[in-house]
Amino acid sequence: MKVLVTGGAGYIGSHACVALLEAGHDIVVLDNFANSCMTSLDRVKQITGEDFPVVEGDVNHHRVLDSLFNSHDIDAVMHFAGYKAVGESCEKPLLYYRNNVAGTLSLCEAMQKHQVALLIFSSSATVYGDPPTVPIKEDFPLTATNPYGRSKLMVEEILRDLVSAEQLTGSGAWQIALMRYFNPVGAHPSGLIGEDPNGIPNNLLPYISQVAIGRLPALSVFGSDYPTIDGTGIRDYLHVMDLAEGHVRALDYLAQGKSTSGCHTWNLGTGKGYSVLEMIRAFESASGKTVSFKMAPRRAGDIAACWADTSKAENELGWTASRGLSEMMEDSWRWQLGNPQGYRS
Ligand code: NAD
Ligand code: UDP
Repeated sequence: MKVLVTGGAGYIGSHACVALLEAGHDIVVLDNFANSCMTSLDRVKQITGEDFPVVEGDVNHHRVLDSLFNSHDIDAVMHFAGYKAVGESCEKPLLYYRNNVAGTLSLCEAMQKHQVALLIFSSSATVYGDPPTVPIKEDFPLTATNPYGRSKLMVEEILRDLVSAEQLTGSGAWQIALMRYFNPVGAHPSGLIGEDPNGIPNNLLPYISQVAIGRLPALSVFGSDYPTIDGTGIRDYLHVMDLAEGHVRALDYLAQGKSTSGCHTWNLGTGKGYSVLEMIRAFESASGKTVSFKMAPRRAGDIAACWADTSKAENELGWTASRGLSEMMEDSWRWQLGNPQGYRS
């Protein structure tokens, strides 16, 4: 299949490009490089030995999309393009709704116009808010506590409406996958592509690795009084290559038309949670470095514990995360060591 990968130069998108090419698909990348650069795509070409077209442009721009769909025979879209910083979304909600919600609307309009009906959307476990219990199943109640989360929830609702409308009229062409990611970490084992946050990282793993390499003095552990094994927050961390391969499985599933309805939801996680202190220890043993840290107050909006029930993805997609914690840490460290300043190294 020929797959349009929006946001393909970003952290998850670049790994998905590798997984798609390795599975024998053709790709076209659309990215405006708002949070990435061409180097990641050059590295994807280096890893896979494959060339592919890259369109520099914005998913909000109808003319860019029209021209892209006119010049490439696209079968399916993986939609990673969007903004993802929770704090920034609270300061600039309009920017987030414009890019994440309106951008997806423009994309769907273009897909409808050009009769491309297969869409895989990057959602997030954030749509579960503070879950009543763990592990989290796909049918748990949905809620959002910040504009970023709300943008994901809104897009999910829009996509569900799109499929319902077609089912009402019996036209039924859309095949949509809502992929709810838990906490993607790690990097491609080559060390050539990985997560390259702008400025000081918000997420745990990039922060830990920048402390380990000496770019940052110490990690603040947000909260030591949660009702968890050691008082620190628990999350379901999964290797970004497992995540990428999950998308390829979803693509195969949708393409084979195994579905009775056109909108599917899958959790992508490992089903196992680790605390912040466990993550620090695992990183130290993979890297041989000491990670300085200090206990700090809870971060506003954080929940105590969150991990996935992955049985739906396992049963329907035949997908489970195969890479363990030490592989996630070793691959993160290899990426950090080889690229101490990210792609600017
Ligand atoms: P990223 O910022 O590394 O990648 C996003 C890419 O989209 C970047 O290359 C950026 O330049 C591009 N982009 C942004 N707006 C665009 C636009 N209007 N037009 C074209 N390109 C645009 O982020 P990521 O971590 O790879 O996340 C990818 C997707 O997965 C996002 O939608 C994010 O919300 C979602 N997600 C990420 C995580 C995570 O922890 N990284 C977790 C859950 C969901
Ligand atoms: N965390 C932390 N210090 C940091 C960043 C994160 O203690 O500098 C904790 C955070 O409180 C949470 C876990 O690490 O318990 C994962 O946070 P992250 O921001 O990576 O992902 P989230 O689950 O919040 O999306």
